[in-house]
Amino acid sequence: MKLALNQAARAAALGETPIGAVIVLDGQVIGRGRNRREQRTDATEHAEMMAIRQASRKLRSWRLSGCDLYVTLEPCLMCAGALINARIRRIVFAASDPKAGACGSVVAAQDFPLMHQVRCEGGLMAEASSVMLRRFFQALRERDKGRGSRGHRRDEARTGRKQILMHARPEADHPEYT
Ligand SMILES: [Zn+2]
Repeated sequence: MKLALNQAARAAALGETPIGAVIVLDGQVIGRGRNRREQRTDATEHAEMMAIRQASRKLRSWRLSGCDLYVTLEPCLMCAGALINARIRRIVFAASDPKAGACGSVVAAQDFPLMHQVRCEGGLMAEASSVMLRRFFQALRERDKGRGSRGHRRDEARTGRKQILMHARPEADHPEYT
């Protein structure tokens, strides 16, 4: 989970909501992922999806049987579905997501009568993940507040480069951390 938190920190450094994931097989990391939704302007660019793609490339197989996924925030329904399709053995998540969590918070994908059953466990290093999310949104709010000031606008004009988060409102997805 520490490695997943490292991925989350990398996402935050790039202005993305800090969510990270790793996939482990026999004690070895075979896939890493971080949230890249703003960067890629793609709703499917969640940390879990990137980790699945990397692990599948590494194993040269879409089947990730016997693999465990560690992710810093409870997976959404899309990712839980993708993880089930990939035949992941176990999902271990840190913080719960009461708005979109599909491992027990909103729905419990592990209980769906599908062709593959995945095990879900939550709460591992949950505090570290929550703190990272809260800090990220706090910084975002502070920056939003600063946008009103002339100095900030001048600064923005000088760099000639709009920052991704000026338009992104990722906090709307995770109000519990704001
Ligand atoms: Zn997801």
